[in-house]
Amino acid sequence: RTTTVAIVGAGPAGLVLAHVLHRAGVAVTVHERLSRAAVESAARAGVLEHRVVEYLRVFGLADRLTAEGERHGRCEISCLGERVLVDYGALSGGVRHWVYPQQLLLRDLIAAYQQAGGSIAFDRPVLGVALDADGRPVLDTADGPLHAEYAIGCDGAHSIVAAAFPDGADGPGRRYPYDWLTVLARIPRPVEQIRYAVHADGFAGMMPRTADVGRFYLEVPAGEDQEAWDERRIRAELHRRLELDGGDPAPGALLETGMLRMRGKVADRMRAGRLLLAGDAAHTVTPSGAKGLNSAVADAADLAGTLLAELSGGDGGDGDGLDGYQRRRLDAAWQTQEFSEQLLDLLHLPAGLPPAERGFALRLRLERIRRIAAPGPEGAAFALAYAGAGE
Ligand code: FAD
Repeated sequence: RTTTVAIVGAGPAGLVLAHVLHRAGVAVTVHERLSRAAVESAARAGVLEHRVVEYLRVFGLADRLTAEGERHGRCEISCLGERVLVDYGALSGGVRHWVYPQQLLLRDLIAAYQQAGGSIAFDRPVLGVALDADGRPVLDTADGPLHAEYAIGCDGAHSIVAAAFPDGADGPGRRYPYDWLTVLARIPRPVEQIRYAVHADGFAGMMPRTADVGRFYLEVPAGEDQEAWDERRIRAELHRRLELDGGDPAPGALLETGMLRMRGKVADRMRAGRLLLAGDAAHTVTPSGAKGLNSAVADAADLAGTLLAELSGGDGGDGDGLDGYQRRRLDAAWQTQEFSEQLLDLLHLPAGLPPAERGFALRLRLERIRRIAAPGPEGAAFALAYAGAGE
């Protein structure tokens, strides 16, 4: 079997790339190891940048998102009993987020792709990727070898395509000295804005998803066993750290809890000849700044345009084709990583800080929170990076 572009993974990056290439008449295959039901039900991200939604809109992929999603342009950061409102929509000159759960976006992308005549091989993991004598990829699938002009790893953090790079793709990474316990909970009313709580006992976060479901986070020690956190403890800790009062959407039934091992990583390369990476396959970022899904779609958008130019004999816009894609997207990944790291520094107290010094560290953080909430260069820089307009 042969194809022009073999995409591994039907996450946000793989589906957006497949859609744009397919619409342009390129022969595309998509292999996904999970079932369609599993892809369409995994609750992960939910905060989409304006530029990402504008891109999806051009391809008719944002109809449901813009009809059912909510616009958010403010977040709150609490510290030492003070709740500071950061109106990043205003500070950035009008750039706001869309809130729409990732699994619903995936459902829409799959439906749109199938409607356009594309097909996705669900329950079909790619087992390995090799290169033939001409450097063309050959994918090992349950249906036999698949020969492609290009193989694109949109297959998340443990990418099989990255593993096939002759010189490896591994780049520098960081394991943070804490993890986040993640909670998906029913809520009596929608979360009006993201709330970050900087607290002596650890960070807590509350993020919007849908009208009756919210995403909550609790900082816990790195490597913490989830068994140590029963429902009562989770609820009590969320209330205490987030300082939930009568006006807040307190978590009701807990629908899902998990442990997010906090890591950041950027690959050394996103291209090896005809092998390319996009999204989490090339870079993973903690959810602090809600950047992972957005970076994945931004990679796919750039790669789609660059591949189309390459396939039609052009140069991808800036004269160096697929190397240009790699350069632009690695630069963007590092910018994202740097922003997320700054935000993590603000939200967490330094590891090993003696209890007697926590008050000092918290007061310094409050100072910085007030500065980024105020009009001025620092507020504008934070707002642009947070809203995804600074890249
Ligand atoms: P993925 O979504 O991981 O998709 C990769 C796909 O490849 C998967 O479907 C996988 O099954 C498939 N696959 C893997 N290996 C193979 C194989 N060998 N063969 C075939 N298929 C394969 N990001 C944000 O922007 N905002 C947020 O608020 C946010 N919150 C998050 C909260 C949580 C709890 C988590 C876990 C993540 C969050 N993220 C967030 C990150 C975001 O979900 C990811 O960055 C995003 O899904 C990356 O998209 P992707 O297409 O690159 O990879």
